[in-house]
Amino acid sequence: MFNVKEYSKINKKKIQKYHKKYYHIHKQELKERRKKYNQNPIVKNKRRKRRREYYKKNKIKFAKKSLDYYYRIREKNIMSRKERKMEVINGYDGKCVCCGEANWEFLTVDHIKNDGAEERKKMTGNQFYEYIIKNNFPKKYRLLCSNCNWSRGTYGYCPHEKEAK
Ligand SMILES: [Zn+2]
Ligand SMILES: [Zn+2]
Repeated sequence: MFNVKEYSKINKKKIQKYHKKYYHIHKQELKERRKKYNQNPIVKNKRRKRRREYYKKNKIKFAKKSLDYYYRIREKNIMSRKERKMEVINGYDGKCVCCGEANWEFLTVDHIKNDGAEERKKMTGNQFYEYIIKNNFPKKYRLLCSNCNWSRGTYGYCPHEKEAK
């Protein structure tokens, strides 16, 4: 008795060769047929529906995946930003020149002559830190804590200056 399974197992190479040859000869035709099939609106709709269902079924999985990604990137950004900021803070004196505040979270880089607005506007925070490190901590900048910086920016002076007098 002829056994298809047995036959294809024994003649595996031969069949593969045949298919390959067939494909090669009818390449253009097959391509065209495939294209036509793919452009068929019924096929298209079916595929779209299947994709939507697949997405619906795995919605939570997808959402979790993208959320994980988001947190990973955010953490990475915060880390490198913090590392750069630390380097900048250490490059200057490590504390607010006005009140001595030394917690890095409070510290900001201040442009002494106050003409750094334009310069800074062109850079993101990270780029600004990079710029400072690359230029070996230019003297035109100093460290101020947010309070001292805010008061100087808003009122033109810091209350600490009055206390010192
Ligand atoms: Zn301060
Ligand atoms: Zn101050």
